[in-house]
Amino acid sequence: MNKYFLTAIFAITLFFKSADTSLAANTAKISYTVTFPEAQAHYVNVEMHIDNIHQSNITLKMPVWTPGSYLVREYAKNVETFVVTADGKEIPFKKTRKNWWSINTTGKKSITIKYNIYCNEISVRTPAVDVSHAFLSTLGVFFYPEGMLHQPSTIHIIPYKGWTKVSTSLETVDNDIFTRHSPDYDILFDSPIEVGNQDVFGFDANGVKYEVAMYGGGNYDAERLKKDMAKIVETEANIYGENPNKHYTFIIHNYQRANGDLEHLSSTVLEALPDAYKNENKYQDFLSTVAHEHFHLWNVKRLRPIALGPFDYDNENYTTDLWIAEGFTAYYQDIVLRHAELIPADNYLKVLSDDINSVENTPGKKIQTVADASYDAWIKTYRPDENSVNSSISYYDKGSVIAMLLDLEIINDSKAKYSLDDVIHYMYNEYYKTKKRGYTDAEFKLGLEKFAGKNLDEFYKQYIYGLADIDYNKFLAYAGYTAVDENAATNYPSLGVELTSGSKKIVTTVLRNTAAWNDGINTGDEITAIDGNSVLDSALLFKDKKTGDKITVKINRNGLPITLPVTLLRNAQLKYSIESIPNPSAQQLKVRNKWLKL
Ligand SMILES: [Zn+2]
Repeated sequence: MNKYFLTAIFAITLFFKSADTSLAANTAKISYTVTFPEAQAHYVNVEMHIDNIHQSNITLKMPVWTPGSYLVREYAKNVETFVVTADGKEIPFKKTRKNWWSINTTGKKSITIKYNIYCNEISVRTPAVDVSHAFLSTLGVFFYPEGMLHQPSTIHIIPYKGWTKVSTSLETVDNDIFTRHSPDYDILFDSPIEVGNQDVFGFDANGVKYEVAMYGGGNYDAERLKKDMAKIVETEANIYGENPNKHYTFIIHNYQRANGDLEHLSSTVLEALPDAYKNENKYQDFLSTVAHEHFHLWNVKRLRPIALGPFDYDNENYTTDLWIAEGFTAYYQDIVLRHAELIPADNYLKVLSDDINSVENTPGKKIQTVADASYDAWIKTYRPDENSVNSSISYYDKGSVIAMLLDLEIINDSKAKYSLDDVIHYMYNEYYKTKKRGYTDAEFKLGLEKFAGKNLDEFYKQYIYGLADIDYNKFLAYAGYTAVDENAATNYPSLGVELTSGSKKIVTTVLRNTAAWNDGINTGDEITAIDGNSVLDSALLFKDKKTGDKITVKINRNGLPITLPVTLLRNAQLKYSIESIPNPSAQQLKVRNKWLKL
């Protein structure tokens, strides 16, 4: 708990609007002019004007994190020059915290702050500038004055030579695409801006204008994307009962290394592989990402855990509910594709079995609960190390599996009258629309119980706050399915490591309670020989040996040769596939049809 806690409670009725209002600040006028005189060196220059000042001090702050990505990123580290002027003269300022700049404004009506920022971290959460485009992740570009988070501002963009387009959910001013209006800072910080020569196309769905801005090329078929993305939009809006935006922007960065996506209120930023669109499996993955990020416009951006808004931009914002905010979204990203008839049921069941295998093959599932994984996202999920697989569980994977269990439970208990969709719809109406605040842990549980028609204490005790093994077949049986472990019939021993794929076999992971773990193989070791033979990937699995056999593993550790005797253990990896039981009953088929919309 910190000093912002009371502020957050007090501000609940404001929903998503920050509470740090100050009467003196209400009349200040704020604008920014953004230029790119050194785009080739990855700089953005900003001139910030604050007019009509009626206070003796203004502290400018830069957020330390971006909502949706639970890591303190220290955006202020990239601020370089910082010059304040008033009446044409430079005036002093003082840094009072890593991300705070304090300016004495006694007797000043207007001040101008000129600063530049180095922007060369390519991700969906960080600003990036080069001569081909500028991606303005706004939290890392725009300072806000303390106490003025509620203030509107205007952003003028003077593009680098040859740039002609701006893609953002911020409204234009006087139809000038290079001048944008922000009603307050929560909206500005939730509205990334893409400037450059991106390919832009659009479609309408639910009466909302959708813009797709493609940076970096790619072998996409715009006509197919328009149709498929519209189906996703409409299927998701159907669950919530409304599509709350007037317009929505997909900013899609096509990079050779795609590694993340980020949701916003009325837009999203995705990273995609430029060659993903012509390969059906990769295209399904891309649509799944679209469905995930777009689903967030409701789940987490509007229907949200109580801790996630109003945001504290100076500190970590803790919640135990990312298994709902992210895990449920991860569940819906695939089942929505099935419900939109973009993938057949078999593809969906394959994705589901992959999710189950991810959870089951993570030894950390016996160490960390999904509620704890959520709370510690800041120091664990977003700061993984070589032992993360042994010490933590993904709130995406386990949250997605929990959503599946709850969906099946509700469909079965209600005799196919309700599904998890009804819970989501109810919670959205009850908390976002009616109470205009986030939900507590207990309130979300009550929402689930309302449609399950029963108490979920034991479910929560086992799977949310506990480490119980998940009884998949109990839940899958409701729909006449069973999870079959394809590895159950084999008895091969294994070492229990993961290796690099190149010619040098370096250990990247040692799984808990395996032969390698017990007998002292470490991550970073290079395995040079096993029983005198060179090492192949198949060394992970020993089909000609049995549990209890002894082998000799030669390694190179820190330049020194070491020989380790290792006693092999049975390969503990599970490989589930989901299969129909023979002759499902009428009730099971009813649940199945409701679940998979067959
Ligand atoms: Zn997400």
